[in-house]
Amino acid sequence: MKKIQMVDLKGQYNKIKNIVTPSIEEVFENTSFINGPKVHEFQKNLESYLGVKHVIPCANGTDALQIAMMGLGLKPGDEVITADFTFAATVEVIALLQLTPVLVDVNEDDFNINIEAIKKAITPKTKAIVPVHLFGQCANMEAIMEIAKEHNLFVIEDNAQAIGANYTYKNGEKIKAGTIGHVGATSFFPSKNLGCYGDGGAIFTNDDELANTIRGIVNHGMYERYHHDVVGVNSRLDSIQAAVLDAKLPHLNSYNKARQQAAKKYNKAFEDITSIITPKITNGCLDICDTCDCHVFHQYTLQLKNADRDALVAHLNKNNIPCGVYYPIPLHKQKAYADDRYNDSDFKVTNQLVKNVISLPMHTELDDEQIDYITSTIKQFING
Ligand SMILES: *Cc1c(COP(=O)(O)O)cnc(C)c1O
Repeated sequence: MKKIQMVDLKGQYNKIKNIVTPSIEEVFENTSFINGPKVHEFQKNLESYLGVKHVIPCANGTDALQIAMMGLGLKPGDEVITADFTFAATVEVIALLQLTPVLVDVNEDDFNINIEAIKKAITPKTKAIVPVHLFGQCANMEAIMEIAKEHNLFVIEDNAQAIGANYTYKNGEKIKAGTIGHVGATSFFPSKNLGCYGDGGAIFTNDDELANTIRGIVNHGMYERYHHDVVGVNSRLDSIQAAVLDAKLPHLNSYNKARQQAAKKYNKAFEDITSIITPKITNGCLDICDTCDCHVFHQYTLQLKNADRDALVAHLNKNNIPCGVYYPIPLHKQKAYADDRYNDSDFKVTNQLVKNVISLPMHTELDDEQIDYITSTIKQFING
């Protein structure tokens, strides 16, 4: 059996070497390392893949979130609502811009931001909501957009984990994750569903004026050469990363499909085990079907009931199976983000998830032998 990895970047590279390597070599040859033609090509190709008017590439996903918030003109003291159960980057940039983060609880079924909790957290100072499409499926965007409209708020989608996923409206129409709110932010960190070979990120919007503002912000606040109209940043996707991404983009759908197939096999193996709760799909066709892109499984995350999560982690490690705990500490309990404003009892779901979640190896190269070994090792632990 091939060695099991949390993410098998080498296995994937071996299969696309013949496309990626020439694409990178083209950049070496033309030496347009910054803002080269590859960056522009990738930007156009991603715009048409997502069906969005503007993609603005930048240096990483954290920058993408920060720049989106700068572009919307959010001011110190403005309150921004986001999920307690997410990677810290989401709340970090809110705090960094001296906005006030307002963390709220998530749903037990899909791990995404809870709608009632958002409603409860709104005050006259609330200016934006940042839903995170956690582990590969969208938050309840229809409800979030309704709340935003009613209270005149911006919606910034953190799409770092759900590129290529579809959101399905109640009327059946589908739209790509990250293109639903006023602005979307994504990451091309190597392990993401569309990953480069270094750092990268992008911002999406259908708003021409906002796109223009953001294009200046990523480039030192310059709209005309050496005229600095606003305080900006330096955040660029370099041409080599763009070359990798442009070579990988045509494979994104099949990569997401491979993740879904692996998830389906995991689900099947655990279907009769009462102490394991498999991931729920809460939008679209509600199951993993052959045409379904409702969940693109950035992570495959189980919840354990009446089983010792940390003992399972140790058992898997002993059997050479890597696994992850995303995330072990709620953001409202992190030193940097703890605040007297928070009431621990408002975070019942997150407080429970941090104790019982476990993410299994999930990538595009998992084979049946590996999945069988992983699932039988878990069953062996559960059945004692
Ligand atoms: C990965 C990730 C980010 C940050 O992306 P970087 O490219 O590492 O800066 C932000 N939000 C979420 C939810 C992520 O998973």
